[in-house]
This record gives sequence, C-alpha cells and structure tokens, in this order.
Amino acid sequence: MSKTLVLMICATLICSLLMAAGASALPKHHAVPGGVAVVPVEESSGITFKGKPVMVVGEGDKYFAIVGIPLASRPGSYKLKARKQNYPFMVEAKDYETQRLTITNKRKVNPLTNDMPRINKERAEMDAVFTAFNVDQPVATDFTLPASGPISSPFGLRRILNDQPRSPHSGLDIAADEGARISAPADGRVVATGNYFFNGNTVLLDHGQGLVTMYCHMSRINVSEGDLVARGDLLGAVGQTGRVTGPHLHWSVSLNNARVDPNLFLSVETN
Ligand SMILES: [Zn+2]
Repeated sequence: MSKTLVLMICATLICSLLMAAGASALPKHHAVPGGVAVVPVEESSGITFKGKPVMVVGEGDKYFAIVGIPLASRPGSYKLKARKQNYPFMVEAKDYETQRLTITNKRKVNPLTNDMPRINKERAEMDAVFTAFNVDQPVATDFTLPASGPISSPFGLRRILNDQPRSPHSGLDIAADEGARISAPADGRVVATGNYFFNGNTVLLDHGQGLVTMYCHMSRINVSEGDLVARGDLLGAVGQTGRVTGPHLHWSVSLNNARVDPNLFLSVETN
C-alpha cells in the first residue's frame, strides 16, 4: 500500500472520529480542579472514584466514565477503579482569579450562632442530593443556558467577602433582572426546593448518575419536588434572595458531589 493511501485512510479515520466527537453530547474533557475528566472505559457501569460511583455513558460502541474533579483537588495522577482494572487519568493545575465582594448584610458572611442549626440542616439536605446516584432515569449531559444575560461571575473564583476568605465560587452567575425566566437546561427531576440561608430560593434538578444542577437566589419557584421537567421548561424567576449583591441567577453543576464548571456541559461557551 502506498504511503499516500495509508495517510489518506488515517486522515479519513481521524476525521470520522472527530465528527463523532463533534456530534457528541458528552461534556468536554478538561481535567483540572473544578473540571471534568472524560475517560474511555470498557465497562458500562461499576466504575468508582475515591470509593463512590461515577457516571458512565455509552457513545457509539464505546463507554466513557464522566468524572467531576473537586475544586480542592491537587494536580497529579488519579485513578478510576473497575472490577477488573484501574483507569488512570491526570489532573492538571488551574489558577482561578480572586474576587473581592462587599456584602451589606453582614450576617450572611458571619452568621449568628443561632443561624447555625438552620445552615447545617440545609447543608445536609443539599449534600443528600449531591451524593445521590440515580440510575433509574436517562442521563442528560448536554445543557443550554438556563437564563439569558451576561456572565457576571465565572466559575471557580477565589472569594474574599468583606475582606474575609470564603469558599470559592462554585457556580456561574448570570446577571438578569428580577423576574427574568429561568428554564431547565436539560431533562431532569426536581429533587429539592427550599428557601436556604445563603442560596435563597433554590431548586435542585437531578439529571441522572450523580449529575445535579442548582438554581439559587430565585424570586419565584414554579416547580415542586418530584416534578419531571424537560429542557426549556420554566423553573421560576431570577431574584436576589439569600446572600447577594444584586439580582442574578447562581447556577451550579455538581457531578459525583464535585461542583464543576457549567461551561463544560454547554455546546456554546459563555466566557
Ligand atoms: Zn454565584
């Protein structure tokens, strides 16, 4: 076989692989703290990361584990475990910028002692949602933006609130007027709604296999726990409830209990 012919066959193969990847609804592989690792695997289920199950999605005749990497992870080598073998993957370093904010309601930065039972109860409620692993619904990993407006705060910023270091920004903020529409970014099930101390009026959607999205600071909630929603369905409206500097939607994406960059699930990046 001539060299040219071999090259042409290789180019065609690579091209069709790229086309398959382009048509794919899988999130982008970006293995950094706060990112997602897309790792080819041979099993359709039973893959774990740090002892917890991770999402596995079929694409053509291949399977991929989709792993959320916690923001606090150190760069280095990690591995997924399967019944018969391990799958290693590398996490690269990523530097996130620092943001300083002034919150006028000081109690939302330094809660009173008698706020703590409520805060702890709400944290436990959200953790139960983030750590659930539901295999009884089709998984949806291809998202559209849940509100229209500019991104006022990207994911991952290191945060200093009223001159005090706080947890990094675990979602992205979309600036919009109070009352603006919030829509489901993909099919899912409403697993919790509530009025939380920091997050204000909040909706949590389960998209299957440990993938959860969260909508915070809403002025109005239009869904109830247990509702099944389709992409584009109304969830509620933008507001400024909870710890805010103004009306916006805080949108978080959680995968295997790691808050990750929502951009990796969008076909069109926002920043
Ligand atoms: Zn936010």
